[in-house]
Amino acid sequence: MKELDKLIAGFRQFRKRYYEDEPELYQQLVYKGQTPKALVIACCDSRVHPAQVMDTDPGDIFVVRNVANVVPPCQEDGKSHGTSAAIEFAVKLLGVKHIIIFGHGQCGGVRSLMEGKHQGHKHGFIDSWMDIVAPAREKVLKEHGNATFDDQCKACEQAVIEISVNNLMTFPWISDMVSKNNLFVHGWYFDIEQGELYARTANGDFRPLGAEAASV
Ligand SMILES: [Zn+2]
Repeated sequence: MKELDKLIAGFRQFRKRYYEDEPELYQQLVYKGQTPKALVIACCDSRVHPAQVMDTDPGDIFVVRNVANVVPPCQEDGKSHGTSAAIEFAVKLLGVKHIIIFGHGQCGGVRSLMEGKHQGHKHGFIDSWMDIVAPAREKVLKEHGNATFDDQCKACEQAVIEISVNNLMTFPWISDMVSKNNLFVHGWYFDIEQGELYARTANGDFRPLGAEAASV
């Protein structure tokens, strides 16, 4: 299994660092439990791992990843909702104070949405998952109809972040906490070509983090 050699060697390095050289952090995490400061909802894309991009330590962030960092609307229908379960766990049980929707450039899920499933691009699971954010595609086609396909995809990546932020607010316990300033929701966009991180402001623009980053 040569493809996996790097992963196994990586685990040995990880183990040496956190269980032999600097065991204090994991001892604390194991015996006192985790208290992550933020829930990060990111894409599965191998190029945008939040822990790597934001150089976090173990225990810093609680991460849920799915295709295109989509938050579905709150649906209390008794069915299995993996992303919603992770959100509930982070907010209700761990008490995170921040939720970050972590979108990114060159997103394959968004590209698939923009291509349109009725044009010969049929991906059963991806298409039905991306249906949650289908209004993002409609918005882009309406507002950026003459833009290049790549620019439309970028606009759609950012529109998906907006929908995910709005869908978070359909969870009553989230909107309640946000209204009381006990929880803060952020929409961030990682431009993988430029290596820049942007935050969605209250009026819907994306600005480089470090400038006037606003939360809802
Ligand atoms: Zn993606």
